[in-house]
Amino acid sequence: MNKKEILDKFSADPQRYYKVNLFEDQGFERKSCKTCNRFFWTLDSERSNCPDHSDDTYSFIGEPPTSKRFDYTQSWKEVESFFVKNNHTSINRYPVVCRWRDDLYFTIASIVDFQRVMGSKVTFEFPANPLVVPQTCLRFKDLENVGVTGRHFSSFCMIGQHSIPNENGYWKDDCINLDFNLLTQQFGIDKKEITFVEDVWEGGGSFGSSLEYFVRGLELGNAVFTEFQGDLSNYKTLDQRIIDMGAGLERFAWITMGTPTAYDCCFGPITEKLIQDAGLDVNSSILVPYFTEIAKNLELYDDLSQVRKNAIKSTGLSDEQINRIITPLEGIYLIIDHIRTLIFAISDGALPSNVGGGYNLRIMLRRIISTMNRLKLKFDLNEIIDIQIDYLKNTYPELENTREDVKEIISIEASRYDSSKQRMQKIVSKLDKEPNVTDLIRLYESDGVTPEYLKEMKVISEIPSTFYAKLSDLHQSKKQKEQLNLPLEGISDTELLFYGDDPREFNAKVLKSFENFVVLDKTAFYARGGGQEPDHGKIGDCEIVDITKHGNIVVHEIKGNIPKEGNTVSCKVDSKRREGITKNHTSTHIINTSARNVLGSWIWQHSAFKEEDHARLDITHHSALTDEDVVKIEQAANGIIEKSIPVKIENFDRGTAEQKYGFRIYQGGVVPVKSVRIVSIGDLDIEACGGTHVANTSDVEQIKITRTKRIQDGVVRIEFVSGDGAKEFVKKKQHDSESKEKEDKLREQEKEKRLEQRQLAKERIPVIAKSLLECKQGTVTIDNITMELAESGKANFCYSISDDYDDVFHIGLGEKLCKEDPKLVYCGLFEQGGKVRVIVYAGEEISKEKSAGEIVKKISQVLGGAGGGSPKFAQGGGTDKSKKEDAIKNAKSMIIQ
Ligand SMILES: [Zn+2]
Ligand SMILES: [Zn+2]
Repeated sequence: MNKKEILDKFSADPQRYYKVNLFEDQGFERKSCKTCNRFFWTLDSERSNCPDHSDDTYSFIGEPPTSKRFDYTQSWKEVESFFVKNNHTSINRYPVVCRWRDDLYFTIASIVDFQRVMGSKVTFEFPANPLVVPQTCLRFKDLENVGVTGRHFSSFCMIGQHSIPNENGYWKDDCINLDFNLLTQQFGIDKKEITFVEDVWEGGGSFGSSLEYFVRGLELGNAVFTEFQGDLSNYKTLDQRIIDMGAGLERFAWITMGTPTAYDCCFGPITEKLIQDAGLDVNSSILVPYFTEIAKNLELYDDLSQVRKNAIKSTGLSDEQINRIITPLEGIYLIIDHIRTLIFAISDGALPSNVGGGYNLRIMLRRIISTMNRLKLKFDLNEIIDIQIDYLKNTYPELENTREDVKEIISIEASRYDSSKQRMQKIVSKLDKEPNVTDLIRLYESDGVTPEYLKEMKVISEIPSTFYAKLSDLHQSKKQKEQLNLPLEGISDTELLFYGDDPREFNAKVLKSFENFVVLDKTAFYARGGGQEPDHGKIGDCEIVDITKHGNIVVHEIKGNIPKEGNTVSCKVDSKRREGITKNHTSTHIINTSARNVLGSWIWQHSAFKEEDHARLDITHHSALTDEDVVKIEQAANGIIEKSIPVKIENFDRGTAEQKYGFRIYQGGVVPVKSVRIVSIGDLDIEACGGTHVANTSDVEQIKITRTKRIQDGVVRIEFVSGDGAKEFVKKKQHDSESKEKEDKLREQEKEKRLEQRQLAKERIPVIAKSLLECKQGTVTIDNITMELAESGKANFCYSISDDYDDVFHIGLGEKLCKEDPKLVYCGLFEQGGKVRVIVYAGEEISKEKSAGEIVKKISQVLGGAGGGSPKFAQGGGTDKSKKEDAIKNAKSMIIQ
């Protein structure tokens, strides 16, 4: 089933699918476009083409069709007051980081706010009916268009008008009536200017008709009526029909202002300021025709550079005018747009990184900086952020709370980009050909080199139009969960006792047993889930190995003789293990909120793991934690324990919980159930969580952070222990540090003693030398120094391998002995810095035959090293401490045979 087939079918029966009361009442005429045959409805009898093919396309630029002028802020006020006047509830925007869906990183349309995915089914969660919402939406597919086309944004405000047709809501007739009145009454647009075009919508197994409404070729909104499910030959009306009218607020502002681009009227005073700062001479007599041509050509060509070329050609702009006015202006628009998107994303807790949705934010910031560098624009990013938030907070007051956080993250990220430039330069210098799209993606993915940088360095002249779309696809891929296939058909849901009385001992009936698995009618054993490890314990005589949840059925994996189906078994939970895990689980909540308070609003739980004796929490953070951060987080966490705050657990309808507590509740990810379990620690931390928790923070007793580590870009791991584990950790640490202190002291004492001895030895050199020289034959040992005289009387050998002596001693003694006895060779071996060193002296006479250098060479070889020197003095050494005796034997054999 494709859109074209549905459109053909619906347009063949316009009475049923498209004709609304308004068309009848006002006398709208249905026509088929002379160029493309699309059907449209108009009050203008002259009109014969659809909005895409009319002559008046984009003629509002420079000449708006309204008597009123509204900028972005004012346009929303107009829209809001109109719908509120007409019985709609105006609700605040939802976060742009789409935490309630695990298939989307960012909110891409207003209807996404209300969609909840359960299994393969999409359900809706409307906080009011009917309602209107100014939903900021992020879209990264057309990044290369931003700043250039006059109407593409990386984020925009979708006016969401939503209704469920029941006693409160309405359906097609009222919807189109309202939209028509909004344009004519509130915005002062002549009704003859409004064209409705027939279209259809299809997705997720449902479909319906839609009416797009245009003024002077600009699509302002699209009212989608999600109505049917099935296929075209056999479809039925949905139980829950929904109106999904989405309109672009930026376009509403643009049509009333008639500025050359939508950027000129949607960013507030920042645009004018940057144009002035850059010293641009913008002249509407150039901009109006240029951007009108761009807008018209965009409908005709896919290739943006072709669109730009055509517009330049048909407006007759010179290269000088393009370089002096248009190019820098495009850059300024891009910078403002991208910063606005970063403000929303960072405020809602997203961080620039290389993973997941974070990559989009990183690439935008790099585009901002590259654009400034390329155009030699020197803007103060903090100032731009301030001016933008000052303007945006008229519509989105919550942005005030994160003003400083946004600045901090952007400045960290900007300096990271600066410091990575040298590396990028090296990589770029090695390129031997102009990179194609695949090369560009590889360069970005593996080396962080952005195409903007390559453009800045003039390696490429244009960024290929498919680059961002391809990169975006690469990062949108969904996580696939592996599903175990167990024979569980027909088994009823397990009653979960741990959410009730939570007994440690209970009896249960075996509903199913197979292989090593048992399913009971009820269980108090907690199943692995939400990062919490499963309980242990006994079912009958069998030890539990693992527990998993499949839908609402708990499956116990056991060791031993499996019980028979139908039997009643007595069960016992390992309470010590449970208690440890429970304390660690509540601790993750405490640490999470402590980290957020210490570090900043961007801290979210990335993932968590809770075992009996240890646990970890991975948080979203831009840098590794400093020792000071860790101390502060630990202090804050223990402060929460000391305050003895009750931990409250309540069940809420999901929609109610979201409205009451916001999306911070989804720390552990999406909750795919209608009713959510809210665990709150006072008002400090409120999370949707299915785990086990202590009743009061004081039950945790103590939290100790044992280690932290940056585990990936934008994610930091905090490992910790709590309760008894924390006490043991503290005890062990204290014990460790005490015994280390003792050891250190002992080592210090030994060192001092040795130094003292060595000092004494030096002073005794003359005495020792005198005693040794008194030996006239044979061997004598004094103070671990041995003197051996050759029988021939031609050579004397003196040596020491004692650790009592150092180099100063050996040099002193060797020199003295050889001076007194010209036939003497002295060898001193001693350990120093993990190595064995050797010093050799040879007397005047003997050195002529037995060179000190040769002797050292030999000794060093034996020790596994090298050395050398003159005939009278040499030194060397090696690493093999076990060979000291061998080395001396070798030396001796060289001197006295
Ligand atoms: Zn047409
Ligand atoms: Zn939890």
